[in-house]
Amino acid sequence: MAEDDCIFCKIVAGELPSHPIYEDEHTIGFLDISPWVSGHSLVIPRRHSRNLWEVEGEDLAHTAAAAKAVATTMRDRIGAEGVNLLNSCEAAAWQTVFHFHIHVIPRFSGDPLRLPGHPGEADQDALAELAAKLRA
Ligand code: 5GP
Ligand code: ZN
Repeated sequence: MAEDDCIFCKIVAGELPSHPIYEDEHTIGFLDISPWVSGHSLVIPRRHSRNLWEVEGEDLAHTAAAAKAVATTMRDRIGAEGVNLLNSCEAAAWQTVFHFHIHVIPRFSGDPLRLPGHPGEADQDALAELAAKLRA
């Protein structure tokens, strides 16, 4: 079901314009309106879900497969030398549009994108304690 006031549901329904680049039964892909680099695209399930924590498993699988297809097209048609896939889940992780989506970002040597994080140092005991907590 489409969610009221969800801009991506409106794009799925054709009620808002987009520049589509991919579609199948379960997903669509279109160019991001504010690209980080030329070709930056979004792939979304047609069915609304808020984010990674809420997306149903089959929609997640379909969207991942569509992201791979789009990534391959970027290599073959616009000469991408690499690709980043990005998903942000909730505002704390930079999510701004609350309809699950995967960014497909073509990469080119010398493009301006940089990793947002920096490698830190980790204490082995702290890593072991954390791993135990996450395994539990
Ligand atoms: P998020 O910040 O949630 O990970 O990603 C949302 C993305 O949607 C942003 O990169 C933003 O530029 C893009 N976006 C927001 N509104 C629109 C729109 O109306 N059309 C398109 N094509 N992209 C949008
Ligand atoms: Zn939606």
